[in-house]
Amino acid sequence: MIINIPENSDFSIHNIPFGIFSTQDRSPRAGVAVGEHILDLAAVAELDVFDFNTAVLEKEVLNDFIGLGKEITKKVRRDIQLWLQDDTSILANKPELFVKRSEAQMHMPVYVNDYTDFYSSIEHATNVGKMFRDPENALLPNWKHIPVGYHGRASSIVVSGEPIHRPKGQTKPKAEEPPVFGPTQRLDFELEMGFITGKNTALGESVSTAEAEDHIFGLVLFNDWSARDIQKWEYVPLGPFLAKNFASHISPWIVTLEALAPFKVHGPQQDPKVLPYLEYEGLKNYDIHLEVGITPDNGSEQTVCKSNFKYMYWNMAQQLAHQTVNGCNINIGDLYGSGTISGKDENSYGSMLELAWMGTKPLKMKDGTERKFILDGDTVTMRGFAEKNGKRIGFGEVSTKILPAK
Ligand code: CA
Repeated sequence: MIINIPENSDFSIHNIPFGIFSTQDRSPRAGVAVGEHILDLAAVAELDVFDFNTAVLEKEVLNDFIGLGKEITKKVRRDIQLWLQDDTSILANKPELFVKRSEAQMHMPVYVNDYTDFYSSIEHATNVGKMFRDPENALLPNWKHIPVGYHGRASSIVVSGEPIHRPKGQTKPKAEEPPVFGPTQRLDFELEMGFITGKNTALGESVSTAEAEDHIFGLVLFNDWSARDIQKWEYVPLGPFLAKNFASHISPWIVTLEALAPFKVHGPQQDPKVLPYLEYEGLKNYDIHLEVGITPDNGSEQTVCKSNFKYMYWNMAQQLAHQTVNGCNINIGDLYGSGTISGKDENSYGSMLELAWMGTKPLKMKDGTERKFILDGDTVTMRGFAEKNGKRIGFGEVSTKILPAK
């Protein structure tokens, strides 16, 4: 191996995820994560080993690289895997091609043109339905027929590590009194995964479930911040708005669908049968272990949730088929959130809303404090990895500190 990769690293030789990094003396550029290091792709390009226009590797986002198409991006990943494992390859004895991850700053990997958020975990939708509506009929009548979603705000999607201030807004704490304005009292995370599209479609064109994977470049961890009190007051009748658009964070490394292929699994049985355009063949769910930790200010991290991406009722192929069935066009760099990923167990719920059940079951923290929602000074960290037959790949983390309202 050209460079040492620690055992159990998220960024094993099987992964090779793409991102945008910079250091004190390197401008933002494309790289791949390898163990504790980043392989500088713009520097590798100078060795004249790639047969495409390598200017795309010096851009501040990966959109143009992704736009080269899977034939090229898959070959780049495969070549890097081979070179890293061959001590006599073109990467040998060139330490200047690598930087330590700890010395690099990560940036948004893509320019996000458009962002859609789905609501595709049956456990999450059922939990929210029980709390906000009717415990007996928690799922709305459309839920098992449509991968329910909404168009979100792309401008406020930011990369892991960027702190945010507690958002302010309008809420209605007491039914009999007028609404009030101030910092949200119910700041929440949503544990999601996001997929990034790698191909444009023309207006009027649709992507079938069979074609969907050709259009998906890769996945990131996605924390879709939510202000539950603002949400509760504003969401009728048009759905999420200011409770959702103040920030969402993604992990900086895009793990490709090719890297994730060995971890495909069956999804839950869909009953009733879906309409033909949502039918699919083969394995479309992915076995990715997910967890969320909360670190209080000056405290130590405590895991509050362990979930898995494989629980999703609606898969990514169905989501993309639904998104485009009416002819809505999609672009390279679009981001599609899965919706909060909850499992069946109480410790697998993907939001504080569910974990502390609307504040009725506060979580006990190691420092003696309690959490119903997220407090100022808390850092929320999400991690994800897949493991099978000794192969492990991971996403690293998406981590955000909450600062007091401005
Ligand atoms: Ca969401």
